[in-house]
Amino acid sequence: MLLQNILSVVALSATLLKGGMDVAMPDKNIDGPFFLVNRQHAIHEAYVPEVRTVNATGMRQAMRDEAATALEEMFQAAKADKAGLSTVSGYRSYAKQATIYARKHKTAGQEVADSLVALPGTSEHQLGLAMDLAQKGGSQLSSGFGNTKAGQWVNANAYRYGFIVRYQKGQEDVTGYAFEPWHVRYVGKAYAKAIFDSGLPMESYVSAHRLEIYEFLIQQTSEVRP
Ligand SMILES: [Zn+2]
Repeated sequence: MLLQNILSVVALSATLLKGGMDVAMPDKNIDGPFFLVNRQHAIHEAYVPEVRTVNATGMRQAMRDEAATALEEMFQAAKADKAGLSTVSGYRSYAKQATIYARKHKTAGQEVADSLVALPGTSEHQLGLAMDLAQKGGSQLSSGFGNTKAGQWVNANAYRYGFIVRYQKGQEDVTGYAFEPWHVRYVGKAYAKAIFDSGLPMESYVSAHRLEIYEFLIQQTSEVRP
């Protein structure tokens, strides 16, 4: 697993250098598409992005304009491939997230609530860059979505539109969340492709750059090459 990760990192760094994107640091600007939000990197209660209604099948939801446009494109492509999608939940305010967490905490207890629901301030939905999806006509979030044609289409193609399936199976220890095949996060096309190709969660992808092990690994690989 470790070797596999290292190899992914090496392959990824080569791709990045070729593409001229030689640093992958999270955005310092909260309004940038690559701003990292998780349990360790929370957003202030007062942060409210500028959002608009997404023009796509499903429930009436909002996202930031750049992400909304990308999502609309993705929905068209999915529909053309007969893998129709529905929006379920996009932008959520801090207060809305607090209500959702409190409800889950009350009905299922803290442990379950913590693994399934982000504490207010730690949800990507507050950024206006995340969307929860279901099959066309659906309105419930389910891990079974990952096995549907629509879910498999999303997993294989979301990166083409600038989205990553943010909480993957086997990465729970790093992301802090259970597998969520329905949750896509907009990061822009270049980062989405790089993360998709690497197979790494966003956190590991960012850390590798932060520790500057990319350059080291490239050097190691070029030295062993004939
Ligand atoms: Zn979500």
